[in-house]
Amino acid sequence: MGNEREKIEFDILFVGGGPANLAASIHLMNLARKKDMELEVAIIEKGATIGSHSLSGAILDPIALREIIPNYLESGCPVEMDVQEDEFYFLTKNKSFKVPFTPKYMHNKGYHIISLSKFTAWLASIAEELGVNIFPGFAGTEVLYGEDDKTIVGVRTGDKGIDKDNNRKTNYEPGIDIIAKVTVFGEGPRGSLLKKIDKKLNIFHGRMPQVFETAVKEVIELPESNYFSDSSGKIVHTFGYPLGLNTKGGSFIYQMKERRISIGLIVGLDYSDPMLEPYKEFILFKRHPFISGIINGGRVLQQGAKTLCAGGYYTMPELAVDGALFVGDSASMLNIQRLKGIHTAMKSGILAAEAIMEALIKDNFTRETLGLYKQLFEESWVRKELYAARNFTQALSKRGISKFFHLGVQYFTNGRGIIDPLPIKEDNKMLKEIVSNDLSIPDEQVSRYGKLEYDDKLYLDKLTGVYLSQTQHEEDQPCHLIVHDPELCSNECSEKYRNPCTRFCPASVYEIEVDEETKKRRLILNPSNCLHCKTCDIKDPYGNITWTCPEGGGGPGYTLV
Ligand SMILES: Cc1cc2nc3c(=O)[nH]c(=O)nc-3n(C[C@H](O)[C@H](O)[C@H](O)COP(=O)(O)OP(=O)(O)OC[C@H]3O[C@@H](n4cnc5c(N)ncnc54)[C@H](O)[C@@H]3O)c2cc1C
Repeated sequence: MGNEREKIEFDILFVGGGPANLAASIHLMNLARKKDMELEVAIIEKGATIGSHSLSGAILDPIALREIIPNYLESGCPVEMDVQEDEFYFLTKNKSFKVPFTPKYMHNKGYHIISLSKFTAWLASIAEELGVNIFPGFAGTEVLYGEDDKTIVGVRTGDKGIDKDNNRKTNYEPGIDIIAKVTVFGEGPRGSLLKKIDKKLNIFHGRMPQVFETAVKEVIELPESNYFSDSSGKIVHTFGYPLGLNTKGGSFIYQMKERRISIGLIVGLDYSDPMLEPYKEFILFKRHPFISGIINGGRVLQQGAKTLCAGGYYTMPELAVDGALFVGDSASMLNIQRLKGIHTAMKSGILAAEAIMEALIKDNFTRETLGLYKQLFEESWVRKELYAARNFTQALSKRGISKFFHLGVQYFTNGRGIIDPLPIKEDNKMLKEIVSNDLSIPDEQVSRYGKLEYDDKLYLDKLTGVYLSQTQHEEDQPCHLIVHDPELCSNECSEKYRNPCTRFCPASVYEIEVDEETKKRRLILNPSNCLHCKTCDIKDPYGNITWTCPEGGGGPGYTLV
């Protein structure tokens, strides 16, 4: 390819190859077939393959999958196991207590345990069979607008072959302008293009702030004789230790095939202690006697991290603008109460496909016509489900036991609770300043994490974890993490928060170097370690970090998680 920017046209462009867009493209192609309509449809995905950036628990409620592929089991859907048994535990520092009553929204019996990376790869194979053009390794980096400067007409993919200093290398290839009648954004949580669209079109105006949780998860292979030996399809959820009751979050352990388990800890990003380190909380969790009893003798096969959008119904953006729709986690459609967003993402994609088909028939792609998507959403089961959980994350964000009071009232009032809507604040406004002029690490943190022990097998340090996420980036490229004001990191952020980016990042991307003589602190970045979880874009107390897509194809190489 030369140095000229190419322009390609499709009828419909899907940005992001997650469950939302894959379901949308499959449903759209099937609708088109029924109407004998020829459609040119494309999906771009920043990962090197479909599935390589997919990370989830995951328990799949197949309700939406069944709508588009009724015979999904016969069609080769990669199911690990069906859930047979739900266990729910409260953990104190050394003990575990089985909760006798599991709330109905945590009932999972009959649902499927899957690996999301395998599942999305399989969905992509179905979409391809139907004629969808899938382009992995292509990241959308700019949104393209029409002459009116408000109609979205497509996206520009990132340039390839640019060096660290922004010079063109010999393999330089300019990004492509992909033009479409409708562009569907399914970038997952904290979409980088979605942020840009919001700046221009104000799609989150009047909504509650977006809030997130971050998770570190692993797939572990257990020894021959293990906690799950006599069961098939057992899942365990815990809450309490190590996060306690002031930090929202909890854990999951799901049994998989071949003596494997999927295990993770989810931490609400509204935590207030700047010294908290989600990754080390995960290690503390694994070291708990009950959990280590389950995993002892095992070996981590793969590790990764990702954020979840936790805000739900009250944080959803406008769903349609001129020329574009927003689906799945990008549209904040995850049901955090059930810790499930795959089926809701897929359903949003299905509804988007139906609205697109109507727009194609009318040959009209304005906000009004595409607004049918919102109408279909309002009439659907997914709206009902999300509405019932509308105040859940807000209740969980309450400190101490007051959260149980809110949750209890919500339970008996179908989600309404005491105050509806219950307010929440942005995650990055929640950190408390450290009141001390001594820039060393506070004692409490040393005692909390100082004695953590790692090995190369079951209790991994961050860098070994990054290695097992199979993350790779072209080293010689511009840094994709934009730190707007590095001086802020050296001074104010150091003093007030001791640079929390060095702790909330699960991949050691951010480090502080201290000059021996001047004692000046300087932020160093290791962008090649980045797992694309986007915690930095969310939790930095000054909003000083913007996550952008690196060269397409870079990032984690998940195959099991
Ligand atoms: C730890 C964890 C546990 C979970 N457990 C469960 C569970 O048990 N059950 C359940 O149902 N849900 C679970 N979820 C939630 C579920 O995974 C998500 O709700 C779901 O994957 C959302 O689908 P999506 O298509 O909207 O986004 P995603 O799955 O995030 O997919 C978005 C895709 O877009 C790509 N992308 C992003 N930006 C660009 C760009 N600019 N250009 C090109 N490509 C781009 C990404 O690489 C990614 O592949 C869990 C999530 C996490 C993190």
